[in-house]
Amino acid sequence: MYQLIKGQERRGSGGEQPLVDPSTGEELGTVDLASTEDVDAAVAAAGEAYSEWSRLPHVERATIMHKAADILDGQFEELAQAETAECGKAIRLCREFDVPGSIDNVRFFAGAARHLTGMASAEYSGEHTSTIRREPIGVVGSIAPWNYPLQMAAWKVLPAIAAGNTIVLKPSELTPTTSLIFAKAFHEAGAPAGTVNVVAGNGPDAGAHLMRHEDVSMVSFTGSTRVGRTVLEAAATNAKRVHLELGGKAPFVVFDDADLEAAIHGAVAGSLINVGQDCTAATRAIVHRSVLEDFVAGVADLFGRVVIGPTRDEATDMGSLISFDHRDKVAGMVERARGYATVVCGGEAPQSGDLANGAYYRPTLVTDAAPDSEIVRDEIFGPVLVVLPFDDDDEAIRLANDTPYGLAASAWTTDLGRAGRASREIQAGCVWINDHIPIISEMPHGGYKQSGFGKDMSHYSFEEYTQVKHVMTDITGAARKEWHRTIFT
Ligand code: NAD
Repeated sequence: MYQLIKGQERRGSGGEQPLVDPSTGEELGTVDLASTEDVDAAVAAAGEAYSEWSRLPHVERATIMHKAADILDGQFEELAQAETAECGKAIRLCREFDVPGSIDNVRFFAGAARHLTGMASAEYSGEHTSTIRREPIGVVGSIAPWNYPLQMAAWKVLPAIAAGNTIVLKPSELTPTTSLIFAKAFHEAGAPAGTVNVVAGNGPDAGAHLMRHEDVSMVSFTGSTRVGRTVLEAAATNAKRVHLELGGKAPFVVFDDADLEAAIHGAVAGSLINVGQDCTAATRAIVHRSVLEDFVAGVADLFGRVVIGPTRDEATDMGSLISFDHRDKVAGMVERARGYATVVCGGEAPQSGDLANGAYYRPTLVTDAAPDSEIVRDEIFGPVLVVLPFDDDDEAIRLANDTPYGLAASAWTTDLGRAGRASREIQAGCVWINDHIPIISEMPHGGYKQSGFGKDMSHYSFEEYTQVKHVMTDITGAARKEWHRTIFT
């Protein structure tokens, strides 16, 4: 049963599809898919829960959320195992990143629930006082992708409910289990039934219906820019508030004064995190020509040493891609690149032993690609790093910005001025200096340009799930009485 509606686990009535471990090709079970009727039921449940949840004292909301975090702490290993099985991720990544990061997020937003700040100011000749209320918006419809199912569920659900909204979350139909476990924790912790609902349906049916739904007041979508555009259109039906976290093509700029060893290790971690299926993954290494050869040799050496293996093995650095179809898509882009660029290493699926049965792909380094080629411009979402040379700082910044995306970037330099210029001029929602990837609950994550708008995590995201109300009170008892009396007479 993959639906959670009004606190009850239910079977979806929209058909079934197999749930597959992409690292082995084995079927884990069957997902019952949500139909549009299931989505309607979930939205209705969220609507009913809203009147209770939105009026709960903030401290009570916070207490329930902290309790949910305790419940999830107790399910740490179950969450890690489920995430590994459905995504093909290495278990070490789940234990060190996905699960603790998500639980930390619960505690962060439980704390934030008690800090909904309004402002008050005297104005209008001192005769009125204004109060700013931050109020919830209503029922939020959220859609999440398969790359970090648990973290994406956390990023969507937590700021929404901390602010007093209720939510219907549609995870990817490929990876529904951890979203379900996550949502159930809030019900078990005492949130009113229907505060957090999960509908595990496919995108064009359940997802599109949720985005268009008249009783949904805000939509929050994380996924591809292509589907994000359709969400924007669907939201127009009743002028919903929209929050979009879309694709990326992050530049990783290495200046000639950088600590090259640190940059090489950073490029390997930044490009291979989650098998490159990360919207902020380093995909375009833009490297000063004077250090290009050493950078390429260093990254190729480390790429060759990455341990690809069974996902439940603690020694495994990198698991498989999400599916065989996706592996074919990544491989297709690399094969086409052979016609116009150099594949320095990788560029193939492992053929030996058990790995041959999974959707694995070796870390791949590409050079000599033109800046307007497919492999440089399009999102690959796989373990592929493309290296582009530059000769001066202007060119580095121009290449970094030469993309329709603007989610994240990094600059590697020991020069404070260069770091400052890069952080100011690179058009992205996040610029890391001498690092790549760290994402923390306290800081906002979100895009510029076609990477979307709106922020996940941090107080910025919390505020996005509220609407601002101005309450103005006449504090004299008759501040404008005379004016009201004479204006129309
Ligand atoms: P996707 O856009 O194909 O799917 C994302 C979600 O949308 C899934 O739940 C899917 O079922 C649903 N969906 C598909 N078609 C739909 C439709 N017509 N209407 C409504 N919903 C629909 O993306 P994906 O392949 O699952 O994930 C990879 C993409 O997500 C990449 O582009 C990646 O960059 C992006 N991503 C962005 C962030 C971010 O924070 N910006 C984070 C993670 C992933």
